[in-house]
Amino acid sequence: MGALPTVRLVQGREKKIRARYPWVQREEVSSAEKCPTGGLARLESSAGEFLAIGTFNEESRFPFRVLTLQDEAIDVQFFRRRIRESLARRQEVEGTDSMRVLFSEADGTAGLIVDKFGDTLVVQVRTAGMERLRHSWLEALQMEFEPGCIYEKSDMEGRKEEGLDLRVGSLQGKLPKPVLVNESGIAFEAPVETGLKTGFYLDQRDTRRRLAERIKPGQRVLDAFSYVGGFGLYGARAGAEVLGLDLHEPSVAAARRNAKRNELAAEFQVANVFEWLQAGGDGRRFDWIVLDPPAISKTRDKRDSLKWAIWKLVYHSIDSLAPGGRMVVCSCTYQLGLNEMMDTVRLAAGDRSKSAFLEEITVQSPDHPILAAFPESWYLKCAWVRFEG
Ligand code: SAH
Repeated sequence: MGALPTVRLVQGREKKIRARYPWVQREEVSSAEKCPTGGLARLESSAGEFLAIGTFNEESRFPFRVLTLQDEAIDVQFFRRRIRESLARRQEVEGTDSMRVLFSEADGTAGLIVDKFGDTLVVQVRTAGMERLRHSWLEALQMEFEPGCIYEKSDMEGRKEEGLDLRVGSLQGKLPKPVLVNESGIAFEAPVETGLKTGFYLDQRDTRRRLAERIKPGQRVLDAFSYVGGFGLYGARAGAEVLGLDLHEPSVAAARRNAKRNELAAEFQVANVFEWLQAGGDGRRFDWIVLDPPAISKTRDKRDSLKWAIWKLVYHSIDSLAPGGRMVVCSCTYQLGLNEMMDTVRLAAGDRSKSAFLEEITVQSPDHPILAAFPESWYLKCAWVRFEG
């Protein structure tokens, strides 16, 4: 490995790398040998001690991303080991044929996300570094999973920051039509090509399951921001009367097909949730309102817009909530943490003179591991709140 270019840190910055934080900021680099964009490099402390091997892209906000703290080759075998470690970490994920098998930094594959939906793998490449390692991870995925199809969905904005174009399309095999996710005995069509992110939100699996456990037959559930019907169909199977709302027509159509596919009765409508709630809904009172809005903005200075969105959602949901009803309020961005989200819920409840009780907190499912050393990996949190008065 001696041939790799060396990136040296400013003094004192080696601590956080040893503590397993995987990103190095520009200001933390004291010197770097010439390295192709996204190429492999060795990270050293200011005293010249070996710290890590990772990828280097001086254009990036985080020019060095750690792949390993060992002095080892980054090749097919490396990725095969990472996949096996990740699967071992996920042994408790049960009752599904689908899961996130690599979650970027949290699984030691900075810049690479892989979701397995049945026999199909959907990959997202976020960094110039992972782009260059394409041959190695692709071969490792083929060897470890022998999937029917590997489909790339690298269409996130963040790629531009890394100097990369968007890349979408099959890397191997033909994408099944539809791609199906079998979760807890419910078959969901995941619109990989036309839908959001990789096509299905595996991260809400545990929260969906928890909702199904808590619902009593005959209760009413509003699945706001329903996408392809995740929460709504779990609710319908638990015997609830369900209404799902989403702005995106193809998602509503997929949710309806998913209901039909599973012979579940649930209604899905195209609507702007903000306007629908503000207008007082449809006159019904729901026992459960799931608020799972998209990350309105990921940047820190615009975090306030998500706060404001959550305030509005909670404030106006009160008019559609049954007495003693509950909301499941979700924030899917690291930028808006649990405490701030609860502050927002508290303010909205206060503005409506309601008592709000925090009953439980759920987080992203364990196939999206939260690496404590890397707080950015804890992005999803849902507050279960009961309202009185
Ligand atoms: N709860 C879903 C995931 C929701 S993703 C699940 O568990 O699978 C967020 C969804 O919000 C997307 O489907 C998007 O189309 C929808 N959306 C975004 N803005 C909206 C708005 N103003 N009103 C209704 N839906 C909206």
